[in-house]
Amino acid sequence: MAEGRVTGEHGPSDILRLTERFGRIGFWRVDVPNEVVYWSDEVFRIHDVDPEDGEPALADAINFYAPEVAPVVQAAVAASASTGEPFELEDARIISATGVERYVYSKGECRTDDDGNTVEIYGIFQDVTEQVLSQRNMAISKARLELVVQAGLGVWEYDVATRTILVSPELSKILGRETDTPISVSLDDFLGGIPEPDRIGVLEALAAQIDDDTPYLIEHRAIGAGGKTIWLRSRGIAERDSQGKAIRVAGSVEDITPIREATDAALEANSRFNLAVTGASVGVWEVALPSGDMYVSDRLKKIVGAPVLPSTQEGRFVWKLETFLSNIHPADQAAMRKAIDRHLKGRVPFKQEYRFKHTATQQYVHVLIRGQAEWDDKGEPIRMAGSLEDISQRVAHLEALRQSEQRFKLAAEGASVGIWDWLDVNRSEEYWSPNFYSLLGYDYRDLTPSIETFQSLLHPDDVEHTFAAVTAHFESDKPFKVEYRLRHKTEGYRWFLGTAQAAFDADGKPTRMVGSIQDIHERKTAEDKLRKANSDLDQFASVASHDLQEPLRKVAQFSALLERDYGDRLDGDGVLYLGFLMDGAQRMSRMVKDLLTYSRMGDAALNVNPVALENIMAEVIDDLSEVIRESGAEIILTPNAPDIPADPELLRRLLQNLVANGIKYNGSDTPRITVSAVQSTSAVHITVQDNGIGFDPKQADRIFEIFRRLHRREEYSGSGLGLAICKRIVEMHDGKIWAESEPGQGAVFHINLPIREPVVQASVA
Ligand code: ADP
Repeated sequence: MAEGRVTGEHGPSDILRLTERFGRIGFWRVDVPNEVVYWSDEVFRIHDVDPEDGEPALADAINFYAPEVAPVVQAAVAASASTGEPFELEDARIISATGVERYVYSKGECRTDDDGNTVEIYGIFQDVTEQVLSQRNMAISKARLELVVQAGLGVWEYDVATRTILVSPELSKILGRETDTPISVSLDDFLGGIPEPDRIGVLEALAAQIDDDTPYLIEHRAIGAGGKTIWLRSRGIAERDSQGKAIRVAGSVEDITPIREATDAALEANSRFNLAVTGASVGVWEVALPSGDMYVSDRLKKIVGAPVLPSTQEGRFVWKLETFLSNIHPADQAAMRKAIDRHLKGRVPFKQEYRFKHTATQQYVHVLIRGQAEWDDKGEPIRMAGSLEDISQRVAHLEALRQSEQRFKLAAEGASVGIWDWLDVNRSEEYWSPNFYSLLGYDYRDLTPSIETFQSLLHPDDVEHTFAAVTAHFESDKPFKVEYRLRHKTEGYRWFLGTAQAAFDADGKPTRMVGSIQDIHERKTAEDKLRKANSDLDQFASVASHDLQEPLRKVAQFSALLERDYGDRLDGDGVLYLGFLMDGAQRMSRMVKDLLTYSRMGDAALNVNPVALENIMAEVIDDLSEVIRESGAEIILTPNAPDIPADPELLRRLLQNLVANGIKYNGSDTPRITVSAVQSTSAVHITVQDNGIGFDPKQADRIFEIFRRLHRREEYSGSGLGLAICKRIVEMHDGKIWAESEPGQGAVFHINLPIREPVVQASVA
């Protein structure tokens, strides 16, 4: 009976039937002239219609589609009927005969008669409800995950002598009891509110803190409002007498149910999603027993990449069971043979996950095989058929999910991060996590978390740019990443890095904002000190070089005059001394010039843009054309260099210094300088390598100091400022420069330049 319905003239092949059974794909056909519809069993099932009731008329079939979809289907069928073009419906909503809402995928093609009239439209029909819903759930749980914060905070105090616990009103609330005053309960009563499996753990952790000071930090379930199971994160610390004996343990409790739920939901949504999308990655197979001849579908052939032979039956391929088994990962073989055996002999359901060597790529693929045998009257298996599913993506997906969860947890728990949640941006109240308070030296009782309190803690000079960043984030979703000072209870203002993300409603209006603060005070003050030291040095260098230039010019001028007017009156030593004098003046003038360059460097505004390395190198080679020609140096730029995030003018000076050094510090070889760059997610790494004389690796750091030279000036001229300038340029870009070398082995200079997200910078006023 199903035969006639599915394909009209021809019966379905075995493979088609198997596909329908394992891939849950249905088939349908519309007889256009008679407006009659033919459905396969699966299509009946999806519509919750009994096949015995017979096929519906075309109009009735279309009426199963939800009101918003039906006209579209109607039009699509009419269009196909008149044009002969195929049609496709994705995620179309239907309401089944029993009122169940489902989503379907349907695709159809037309068959035309000799006159070009469409006589039949036929196609496939698939229930994609799970896929549609789980995709939706995924999106929701992802949004939840992003916005999740530890909402709620309670405190407790355990008295060791009386074995009683004082529970704060907030904690009572978390536990589903409304009170305005702290209440005292016995330890046993308190533990009674913790579900059995976690109770012992809590008790043990508490005892361990009391007896040997083991940190008390534990996540456990509890019964919350309405008898609902909730998740708590509890921390505690003992107060001890002078003998070290614990008197009290004080602790805090956070309700972390949203975090646990969000991660659990994400996991669940994920696995459901994977189940739903398997359709595309399922192959089917059939083995005749005992011959072991195996028939596989085209799809399966692709999954395992097996060289198989076409069968006499169309769309099928022949294979040997033994060949199939021998391609299974050695570690999984025994289990697979055992599973088959247990199925055939003990009729245990057959479902195995294993790795299979893909014959084309030689890589192991994770697959899931399911199957069912058929036995004859004597109980001998005669054949076995089933599906095989490529689950490598699911395995990889799960691994990625596990990692991102871990990252999320780390971020939420990281000791240096405090979390705040502005639950409704139209109101002032906020939630601050325990860490938020402790980073500012406050107890949670000291401050009411709100926008006003936050503003009162904010340094007056930081209010404007901080709130401007909030506005910009609300208006254009511009990332909120701001540095500001907050007043610590005892230590004055401290620097924090604030990051946050808002949630927006359907109209794009912000509804809620969740963020974190991170203490960056040490780094920031170190930076400021450095900046100050640098500017002192700059000032000194600029004054010194200016003031030195004037007398220096005099020395140079007058020694030149001396040579011109009195040269012939000087004896041998006199000429020699005059030569030293002029050489010294020249070198000093060079040094003063370099020093001036060095000190002025800090003044220039940075203009960081991605620049093409080839263009900069072309300029460098042009600048150095004379030395390159004289030395015969070869300059190589490795191809496919990424763009460099740098100020073009400074990058050019940097590379020019390094390339010039590479040419200069060369013994007898023809200098060969290789410049290359590679990009990672967060930085660009440039190397400049030469084949020169190299240096002692112990000096690798010192060569970047001002006036530091390793080689005698009689051998190699120079001011000892080139690399100091390089270092400064790199540091202006927040990058790093370092060198590697061995004497006689050439030198490599490495530069790492970060690709930075813009941070709203603020400096000490
Ligand atoms: P200089 O003006 O002396 O070249 P730099 O600051 O550029 O000053 O370099 C400092 C010292 O580092 C140099 O005197 C030299 O001893 C060493 N040096 C720099 N580049 C190289 C290199 N490519 N190979 C070997 N030594 C180098």
